[in-house]
This record gives sequence, C-alpha cells and structure tokens, in this order.
Amino acid sequence: VLLWVGVGGVALALAAGFFASHRALQPIARSWRRQQQFVADASHELRTPIAVIQANLDVVLGHLEQTVLDNLEWLSAIKEEARRLARLTDDLLTLARADSNEIAIQRARVPLVPVLREVCEAMCPLAEAKGLRLQVELPPPGREGEAVVVGDADRLRQLFAILIDNAVKYTPEGGTVTVRLVPHGRFVRVHVQDTGIGIRRDELRRIFDRFYRGDQARVRAAGGAGLGLAIARWIVQMHRGRITVRSTPGQGSEFTVVLRA
Ligand code: ADP
Repeated sequence: VLLWVGVGGVALALAAGFFASHRALQPIARSWRRQQQFVADASHELRTPIAVIQANLDVVLGHLEQTVLDNLEWLSAIKEEARRLARLTDDLLTLARADSNEIAIQRARVPLVPVLREVCEAMCPLAEAKGLRLQVELPPPGREGEAVVVGDADRLRQLFAILIDNAVKYTPEGGTVTVRLVPHGRFVRVHVQDTGIGIRRDELRRIFDRFYRGDQARVRAAGGAGLGLAIARWIVQMHRGRITVRSTPGQGSEFTVVLRA
C-alpha cells in the first residue's frame, strides 16, 4: 500500500508540474504566435509594392525603344512604390525593435510648442495640396513653459506626424484639420481633430491594432499598411501617457494624447 501511495504521489506531482509548466509556457506560446502573425502580415504587405515594381519594370524593359519620357508614368509608379516600401520597412523595424525592447527612449525635457510647430509646418504643404485648412492652436507665449514634457523629442515628433498625417489623409478636400495644445496642470493635452470621413463604432476598437485598416481606408489608395496608430500607441505607452479617440462617421474624428507635464 505504501508503495502505491508513493507512486501515486509521484504521478500527482508530475501531473501538477506538467500543468504548471504548461500554464507558465502559455504567455510564451502566445507571444510566439503573435510574432508568427506579425511576420506573415509583414510579408503580405511587402509583397504588394514589390509586385507593382516588378510589373512596371517588365513594361519598361519590354519597350526598350521608348524614351524615359515615354515611360514616365511607369517609372514614377516605381518610384512611388519604392517610397512606400522604404516607409513600410521603417515602420516594421520600429515595431520589431519595440517588441524586443531594443529602442531606448530618451528622457529629456521636451517643449511641445516647437515640436508641434515643426510637425505642422512640415505637414502644411500636404494639407494645402489637398485643399485642406491646417489650423494650429498653441498656448500664448507666456504659457509655452507649461507645455513641457519629459520624453523623446524625435518619437513625440513621429507621434504627432502620424496623427496629423492620418487627419489629412482621411479628410476630403475643403475640410479642416485642427491641432490644439492645451496645458492642464500636471498634464498636457494634444488634440488632433479633423472634419473627415470618421471611424465607425465597431472599427474604433481595432484601429490601434497592427495592420488594421478601416474599410474606407482600404478602398482609398492613400492609406498605408495600418501600422501608424500601432506605432503611435507604442510611443504614448513609452511616455506613460494616454491616447484616446472620438469619432462620428461622416463628420470627423478627434485623437487626444495626454502626457505628463
Ligand atoms: P493607415 O493609415 O496606414 O491605414 P493607421 O494605423 O494609421 O493605418 O490607421 C488605422 C486605421 O484607422 C486607418 O486605416 C483608418 O481606417 C483609421 N483612421 C486613422 N486615423 C483616422 C482619421 N483621422 N480619420 C478616419 N479614420 C482614421
């Protein structure tokens, strides 16, 4: 009997050990699956521009008697797709490095007024080309000092560029994009508001997911690979801030970033 009790105990201990290690391995298995999905989605996204470049090159190489000018349309498309590819690989690299904690976030005092001014100036031609009004509302000179956060100036610039770029992308001609910086005690809020196509309620939950693209975005050639907001969310998290969105389809969207002052 003693022997049986002993064997039973060992078996029980082994089973408990197996289930415990199985449970402990679950997060690793999940993260492994996520990585596999990431690689699959990334490869899928890379294939499209590569296919377009190959097809256009075939056209150009098939008509060697023609001049560069004759082939300008195809060559310009190749250039555009190469640009898209470069942007895509940059974004993929950022997210892959973010996953493996390889990116060190600087912790310096960052005055947000010049950061936003710079990003808005860079975005201005894009907005103008689309016939949009880019309105920037910054605190008056005396209160600029309240809009200083601790963080990484380059990453914050990237964050606001993503939000403003989206606002411009998803707002039809004649609309307005408003960027507002509001110091609020120990916090600073940045609002990026547009009068664009808006986001459906059922899509709102998913827009920060990697590779997620709204229905409307997918039919528009202007859309990217659905990585912008995933990067934006990561940057905000690294600054221990918060990003929220409110939107009404057909009327517009407002993204709000709250950072610690
Ligand atoms: P991308 O713009 O490359 O598609 P993002 O990650 O930046 O990817 O955005 C994900 C999706 O969120 C977009 O496809 C679009 O459907 C939606 N979205 C983001 N910003 C806006 C906006 N300002 N107005 C309307 N839809 C938006």
